[in-house]
Amino acid sequence: MCGIVAYLGKKQAYPILLKGLKRLEYRGYDSAGVALIDETLTVYKKKGKVQDLETFIGERSTAGSIGIGHTRWATHGKPDDINAHPHISSNGRLVLVHNGIIENYGLLKEALKKTGHSFETQTDTEVLVNLIEEIQKTDNLALEEAVRVALTKVRGAYAIVVMDKNDPDKLVAARKSSPLVVGVGDDGFYLASDGTPIVEHTRKVVYLKDEEIVTLTRSGEMDIKTISNEIQHPFIQELEFEIETIEKGGYDYFMLKEINEQPATIRECLRGRLNADEGWIKLSGVDNLVNKLLNADRFIIVGCGTSWHAGLIAEYLFEDFVRIPVEVEYASEFRYRNPIISERDIVFAISQSGETADTLAALELAKEKGASIYGVVNVVGSSIARITDEGSYIHAGPEIGVASTKAFTGQVTLLTMIALTLANKKGTISNAYYRQLITELEQIPNKVQQVLEKNAQIEFIAKEIMDAPNALYLGRGYNFPVALEGALKLKEISYIHAEGYPAAEMKHGPIALIDENMPVIVMATNRSAYEKIISNIQEVKARGGRVIAIISEGDKEIKEIADYTIEIPETEEPLTPLISVIPLQLLSYHIALMRGCNVDQPRNLAKSVTVE
Ligand code: GLU
Repeated sequence: MCGIVAYLGKKQAYPILLKGLKRLEYRGYDSAGVALIDETLTVYKKKGKVQDLETFIGERSTAGSIGIGHTRWATHGKPDDINAHPHISSNGRLVLVHNGIIENYGLLKEALKKTGHSFETQTDTEVLVNLIEEIQKTDNLALEEAVRVALTKVRGAYAIVVMDKNDPDKLVAARKSSPLVVGVGDDGFYLASDGTPIVEHTRKVVYLKDEEIVTLTRSGEMDIKTISNEIQHPFIQELEFEIETIEKGGYDYFMLKEINEQPATIRECLRGRLNADEGWIKLSGVDNLVNKLLNADRFIIVGCGTSWHAGLIAEYLFEDFVRIPVEVEYASEFRYRNPIISERDIVFAISQSGETADTLAALELAKEKGASIYGVVNVVGSSIARITDEGSYIHAGPEIGVASTKAFTGQVTLLTMIALTLANKKGTISNAYYRQLITELEQIPNKVQQVLEKNAQIEFIAKEIMDAPNALYLGRGYNFPVALEGALKLKEISYIHAEGYPAAEMKHGPIALIDENMPVIVMATNRSAYEKIISNIQEVKARGGRVIAIISEGDKEIKEIADYTIEIPETEEPLTPLISVIPLQLLSYHIALMRGCNVDQPRNLAKSVTVE
């Protein structure tokens, strides 16, 4: 959450900052701001989107070859012009952007007030910039040293970039628990929360590690130190993604682009890891941890939001095939619950961004207790990817739409491969069934494509139910987590209240809500519980509810009783979620669009949740 971008070099900073902020806007869009130093320090900040900032700046002066920018997801203080970043210190000398939360800001603020600092905003960030100023002033320190000393006094999470009005040739940046990348260009240095603002300028990057401070100078020096004052040697890496992957490529919204990319992203996830003809799956992360994985007492899966839903599907897969008990945990609850974790447990961490603060903290806890950690992550080089013992990337490419789509199917594809390969090694699956599932998994991208071709029909159904104030999603077995995911998608982008339930649970409560206004989306593809699902549909119909059923191709029986049906290609039941989630993604997309919502940037939300 919160996007940071900065530049120091030969070019004009403003266009770089502005474009960078647009690329990072998925991380927050409560307000945006830039600070530039030319002859003097200029700060522009505005509530709302980066576009609002751009309009506000208009023809005003934007000169300067050093600058910092920020797009905010507010944690402390309402989203308005004043609380927008960058923040300036009391004497007007330092200016700073921040992603994260300074947890002890209250105490620090009181102390700083006593030494004459005044505060204009409600943010924790303004406290940090004043703390740095105080230390710089009192001890007459260089900016980087003042930043270092200040950071020894704060608790919490941060990625920061600081400029000194009196020294327009230097940027100082630091991170802890929030990401920050340095771009090393021929024409200067770049800093950003991820590689997307950097890639068109340079592919050479340094991923800053936790508690590292980098000092960048106009003459081309890059010095990295830890907060405890140890010199570090920068490790320059190549940015691996292509610019097209972070552009809309002809689609109106990233979400629609990412939904449509799924045949390709699932294929990419399988590529080189699965061979149906020869009947093998190969994941180097699994190979490296194989003994621990096979002999584990328990798998604990931690995640948040959509990743938690992918974890629930993995619970079915792992227990079904690998016969190891699984617990799926909300990372935020797990970490504060004093959980029982042993050295014989394996903790699977699922996170698109690899930066999710709660998941990261849960892993640190599990590590302390001696468990091994396996990461299922999208963003290469992210914090979670770095702290795990082993892991596999899902290779979905940058996901920009705030509502996760292709990352979810990537996570489920990968978790399916992990389950199958472990089951095969453990001998808990027959060879014939293993091969059948691999063959079928390879076919999933084609089947997803077939569902995408039903877009017009799904759009039609969306129109029929777009005005409903509530919706219910029901599913059984492998389709139960899909029902939860469908409800979450609808909630987050269309603001319709929706609940996902195990179909059989309906009669224990939610059935009371059903009337003629309530659309009930039923996942009805399961062969194993087919008749029970039909009974559930009848129960809804008997109470006047409108049923939208996701059915297997050729199913005539449900077609006759449901109000609307969407047919999806048949597959092996454990692989169904990869196909059955697609119509739910499209349904939410169309409903949100018809209701005039911004599907890529839903209100109050942001991606890459680096705060607790
Ligand atoms: N805590 C800072 C603020 O509220 C930064 C927020 C964030 O990184 O999400 O402005």
